[in-house]
Amino acid sequence: MMTQAEIAAALKKRPTVAWRSEPLLGSIYGQEEIDAATNAIKEAMDISQGFGFSASPIPEFEAAFAEYVGTKYAVAVNSAGPGIDIVMRALKLQPGDEVIVPSINYQAAPLAVLGAGGKVVWGEADPKTYLLDPADVERKITNRTRCIFPVHIHGMSAPMDAYMEIAAKHPHPVYGPAKVVGDAARACGGGYKGTKIGKMGWGTIFSFHTMKNMTTLGEGGMITTDDQELADYARSVRMYGSGVEAWGTSNVMTKVQAAVGIEQLKKLDSFIDGRRRVAYARNKLLAGVEGIELPYEPEGQHHSYYLYALTVKKEWAGEKRNQVIKWMNDDFGVGCVVANAPSYNSRRILAENFGKTTPLSEEYASRMLCVSLHPAMSDDDNRYISAALITCLQRLG
Ligand SMILES: *Cc1c(COP(=O)(O)O)cnc(C)c1O
Repeated sequence: MMTQAEIAAALKKRPTVAWRSEPLLGSIYGQEEIDAATNAIKEAMDISQGFGFSASPIPEFEAAFAEYVGTKYAVAVNSAGPGIDIVMRALKLQPGDEVIVPSINYQAAPLAVLGAGGKVVWGEADPKTYLLDPADVERKITNRTRCIFPVHIHGMSAPMDAYMEIAAKHPHPVYGPAKVVGDAARACGGGYKGTKIGKMGWGTIFSFHTMKNMTTLGEGGMITTDDQELADYARSVRMYGSGVEAWGTSNVMTKVQAAVGIEQLKKLDSFIDGRRRVAYARNKLLAGVEGIELPYEPEGQHHSYYLYALTVKKEWAGEKRNQVIKWMNDDFGVGCVVANAPSYNSRRILAENFGKTTPLSEEYASRMLCVSLHPAMSDDDNRYISAALITCLQRLG
């Protein structure tokens, strides 16, 4: 924990970078990415070739990504959202078919279930990790459950094996055990029980949006799977679906993005190391501070720390927590977010279709506080941010 003198000293060194929070932080780019992009454009200047149809280096990027994650297949798409849509459509949901989705989530997963004609059954989160609680999945699985769709919410893996065990115990009468699908938009580069995130489950979707752990020029995504049928379906449907004679549209990645992705992937582990370095240093600076619990990283996890999520004490839930976010931004120039409160509270269409059925998650989310973290943050900047946070918490009294 920092002393008052240390706090005062740290606050004198205001960062030169504006450490915003989602959605305002970008990735680290270098000359390698610039060269890769330029080369890809130069190749496309051959009039007899142009940019081609999913031409090199798109397959090379997919192969490198599959190897990194440890899956047989990886299919590149233009962003995670369409990737999630593709995997949900691959389930061929019938009216009344259920997908268990945690409500503490970005809007993408439940919207994709809606789009694919399924019914969202909201799952509660675990209060320490904010990940879909397996005990609640066990309570909510029925003979209509086709899929369990957790999100690796702050960049740490959801307990995939626990969901798979539950699915195996309660198989659907026609389709067998519910498929477990991971939304890893925020978790690229994280690990779980000796595997990389994206290996476990039927399919996993990653985002390379500008604010994520690695990025392909601001937009991009990837689907990973060991199931050839799902890979073939995704590959076909991202290009109008003729190969599998299914509905499809265009969701392809460009070769310039793929060329940049290859370079970002080479740096990904160093980005994650940087995030972990900042998170652990901050844990030390904040250890023992009254009124907050530090991010929890259970045994077997390799948290990517896409978000650094604290939990404030019950007395500070809601309004007081919001006041801290405002002070951090207005008085110290540091971004904080709540990622995320139950998505049915921000999207009426989700509440109207699937109700608001996770009171515990609403309470947990009212105590969540994600404080800006980035692999390029210096020790001084991390100290400044920690000192600012302690100062704001002290003001609450
Ligand atoms: C960012 C994000 C998405 C969407 O990713 P895009 O690539 O922007 O489509 C989906 N799910 C979660 C959890 C996200 O954080």
